[in-house]
Amino acid sequence: MKETIHLSLLQNSHSFLIEAAVKAVNSENDITQLQFAIINLVQSLELSLKSLLHEIHPLFVYDNIDSPKHTISVSKAIDRLQNQDMHGGLFSQKDEKSLRKVIELRNTMTHADYTLSKQHAEAQFHKTFGLVAFFHHKYLKIEIEDIIPEDILRSLITRKEYYIELITMARSRIEQEKIPESDLLKCNNCLSVTFVTTESKNVCYCCHHKDQVDICINCNNVTYSDDMKDFSDEFETDYTDTILIIHENYDYEFYESCKNCYPSIIEDIECKRNEIHQQYLAQEWDWHLENSRREHF
Ligand SMILES: [Zn+2]
Ligand SMILES: [Zn+2]
Repeated sequence: MKETIHLSLLQNSHSFLIEAAVKAVNSENDITQLQFAIINLVQSLELSLKSLLHEIHPLFVYDNIDSPKHTISVSKAIDRLQNQDMHGGLFSQKDEKSLRKVIELRNTMTHADYTLSKQHAEAQFHKTFGLVAFFHHKYLKIEIEDIIPEDILRSLITRKEYYIELITMARSRIEQEKIPESDLLKCNNCLSVTFVTTESKNVCYCCHHKDQVDICINCNNVTYSDDMKDFSDEFETDYTDTILIIHENYDYEFYESCKNCYPSIIEDIECKRNEIHQQYLAQEWDWHLENSRREHF
């Protein structure tokens, strides 16, 4: 029984993977094929994760192991495989993030109106395809070339090279224009580090995607506006009618920072808050001492 389920999960996973590769190759002339390539790829990922879970224990493919009716969702399968107690964490944090991003993209594609960005979808596809290949090699002991027919695999790699070619071209333009690394961000659209912020250009040299950026006052680094974090909730404030009164801003004249600075700012405010509280307690103690001295003498 165990063998039957296991084989069908893995075989199904491979059928979807082949289909994903074929669609990706065909997307060169028909961009809508890219959508089906990603949907099939995530389906394949889901089945191969389940196959590994089944190998660890047959009950692990079920959402609720105490009531094994419905099989687990792809996101929960990742949670379960990342559980340190169970398998020691399969993917690095970075890879896990990539997997969750492609699942999110698949969900957007299947559940809502959306505009497909070719570069973004292609970048996500190739990254996930690489992760699925790695996963098969490392944990299921199967090589990708034993699953995907040779001609399809060759065409796919050529497409990937095309994407790498675009990045290479963008990088050489960046070099020619002598743009410093500190002015570059990882592009939110094509995921390559080719987003140029010099002189408020704010455009990706690889895919020409535009985005809003801000400067973090704390570290002076450029960051995407969407990535700025508001820490004004940490200030001691009061509302009177419509006016906000700030009693204590812990020496921060600004209330937003980049996500790198945010944790240390929160920690710093916490420290200062404790310090002020300790000072207050000490003053109160002095005051009590003073009072009791007056009463006794
Ligand atoms: Zn880009
Ligand atoms: Zn910062």
